[in-house]
Amino acid sequence: MTHLPERLLTGYRSFMTGRYQAESSRYRALARDGQEPETMVIACCDSRAAPEAIFDTGPGELFVVRNVANLVPPYAPDGEYHSTSAALEFAVQSLKVRNIVVMGHGRCGGIRAALAPEAAPLSPGDFIGKWMSLVAPAADTVSQNTMMTAGERQTALERISIRYSIANLRTFPCVKILEDKGRLTLSGAWFDISGGELWVMNRETGDFERPEID
Ligand SMILES: [Zn+2]
Repeated sequence: MTHLPERLLTGYRSFMTGRYQAESSRYRALARDGQEPETMVIACCDSRAAPEAIFDTGPGELFVVRNVANLVPPYAPDGEYHSTSAALEFAVQSLKVRNIVVMGHGRCGGIRAALAPEAAPLSPGDFIGKWMSLVAPAADTVSQNTMMTAGERQTALERISIRYSIANLRTFPCVKILEDKGRLTLSGAWFDISGGELWVMNRETGDFERPEID
């Protein structure tokens, strides 16, 4: 017996009569010619922060990898399983994307967990604890700042982790070489779920600013 959650079946029906119908020639061309996305987005798994929805993109436009808290680990060719690094390697070396965007978001559960590792869902032996330990040094520093409110600490670490991930991107030789040649750009963005605000990282200062979108 086949099974899919009912919500997905109804959604698929509406996709076929709506979006697929409207974009069927694009889907066919993508199937025939292959994908050629210009931009890779590294985003969080959070169900409220889907890059394709936020950037209003169609099929074939974004190459997306999502993981808990949109982290890029440092380059570590150690024979272990590195899913984000594999996606990065494929995007840069095979698809030859021109841009990589690390997009964080407000109210990130992974970041909240990193700030309070003694609270759920971090517990010894869980994968998420090990994963979020990537930002543990920054989390320790931020959580010790008693001048900030809990909300400010959360936003600060969300943005610090974006800068951290961009720094780690540059530890991958293929990324560093192409960026130095001017063939690859690295960007940071932070999406505030509630108001839909997008903040973009200034490459010179590392600050997050509202882009002009008019
Ligand atoms: Zn998140």
